[in-house]
Amino acid sequence: MSAEVTGRFAPTPSGRLHLGNLLCCLLAYLSARSKGGRFLLRIEDLDVPRCPRRLSDQCIEDLLFLGFDWDEEPLYQSRRTDVYERYLGELEQLGLVYPCFCTRAQLHAAIAPNLGDRESVYSRACANLSADEIAERRKTRCPALRLRVPDEVVSFEDGHFGPVSEHLSRDCGDYIIRRSDGLFGYQLAVVIDDALSGVNEIVRGRDILFSTPRQMHLQRTLGFDSPSYFHIPLLMDAHGRRLAKRDKDLDLTALSKIMTPEQILGMLACSAGVIEENRPASLDELVKAFNWQNVKTEDIRLAYNPQAMR
Ligand code: GLU
Repeated sequence: MSAEVTGRFAPTPSGRLHLGNLLCCLLAYLSARSKGGRFLLRIEDLDVPRCPRRLSDQCIEDLLFLGFDWDEEPLYQSRRTDVYERYLGELEQLGLVYPCFCTRAQLHAAIAPNLGDRESVYSRACANLSADEIAERRKTRCPALRLRVPDEVVSFEDGHFGPVSEHLSRDCGDYIIRRSDGLFGYQLAVVIDDALSGVNEIVRGRDILFSTPRQMHLQRTLGFDSPSYFHIPLLMDAHGRRLAKRDKDLDLTALSKIMTPEQILGMLACSAGVIEENRPASLDELVKAFNWQNVKTEDIRLAYNPQAMR
């Protein structure tokens, strides 16, 4: 593999991008470009009913409005089922996959990577069913597929957060890699796509931090190299509250009416510590100024208060 850095931004277009997503994109972009690296865009629209094309188009439009660019055509996960099938077949060959007939309650947890949706550790109720039992249950129910994880600790050094460890069977448990409705889960798709696109640097929100050990275990199992990881703090509003979709005055529809792209980028960069002063800044300028050492490690407060502007 070449030493060149390849970074990426991988949004799930189930709604309009918010400033928290844009901050991730900005830091991922600055980190890769400041090392002369490549940058890719992947649309994580696995859950097709929740991620209609209209929203991925809007997401791309928003990124272009802010001046982002990427080196290849965006990858759409919804078009890659055959690739995921192939690797699922490999995991099945290794005897690591089993059908799970438990209720659908955890369906969404299998696809949503964020901490708030963290699934509880699976009881392994279906882990040791006999072939007869499986055949019998299949008659009435279509199973999800789970990956059997080992009794192992995965540890790594996050480039921004520091050391992280997770005990796979105790802290995360056997997790769903394909839902009972046939949709592939987030963990498997992310690992395959990052590896096949040559991504070797991942910058993303700290809410996904605890998915990383699972992904590293999958990378090892499938024979892929692990990228380096930088998990960034969450973006809070000026009062220290986590930004939410309900904060309509902070979404791009509202902001793009009153701020230029450079003002938005400068505000995000200043909030994160990339530049000291809240002033308009171009991506080129921010690439030159970027240094991970200046990026905040505690929750990031947005250097903007829409109420104060009224
Ligand atoms: N699609 C995920 C999200 O929007 C991010 C996945 C990743 O960066 O690995 O939360």
